[in-house]
Amino acid sequence: MKRIEALEVLNELTAELPVVVTCAATSRELASVENRDNHFYVLDSMGLVGSITTGLALAAKDSDLPKVIGLEGDGSLLMNPNVLPTGGFLGAEKLFLILLDNQVYGSTAGLPTYSSHVDFGALAEAAGWTVGRAADDARLRSEFDRLIATSGPTLLHLSIEAGNASDIPKLLVDPVVLSHRFQTWLTTRLARGSGTR
Ligand SMILES: [Mg+2]
Repeated sequence: MKRIEALEVLNELTAELPVVVTCAATSRELASVENRDNHFYVLDSMGLVGSITTGLALAAKDSDLPKVIGLEGDGSLLMNPNVLPTGGFLGAEKLFLILLDNQVYGSTAGLPTYSSHVDFGALAEAAGWTVGRAADDARLRSEFDRLIATSGPTLLHLSIEAGNASDIPKLLVDPVVLSHRFQTWLTTRLARGSGTR
């Protein structure tokens, strides 16, 4: 499964959920699939998707949102693996990280990460997370549905192919604009309430 194929599925599944997206190629490819107000592209802040998603999940504790989604990469999670023990320690019940693991730094010439020697699911489980694993469309959908209904921090480890989609434009939007757009969407969503995706 290519990254952009995974993002097409995830975009379909998360239309009514806050989605925090890791930097560079992942943000660009998701924006090329659909550039929606519920997407918070964390441009140039590698490693912080887990932290931001944890904070939002804690803030949404009493809302009707089923989960707050973080789309993270393997290189980025390895930059800040502390999000796993932190999420488990805090018992962040609405925290849902989806790890797009291609075993390389996809935005810097495909240099290998440590991923081939690290079992991210085992790390998360050791920290108290509920973990699912997928490598294809059907399993991605079924594990997403299972984990979004599971209370407590959840990690979906999605194995994807290395390589970036071609002809994807750069995402040249001011982060202040992106942040304000997301904040406005989230405020409206929480005020409305729906209990759906
Ligand atoms: Mg990667």
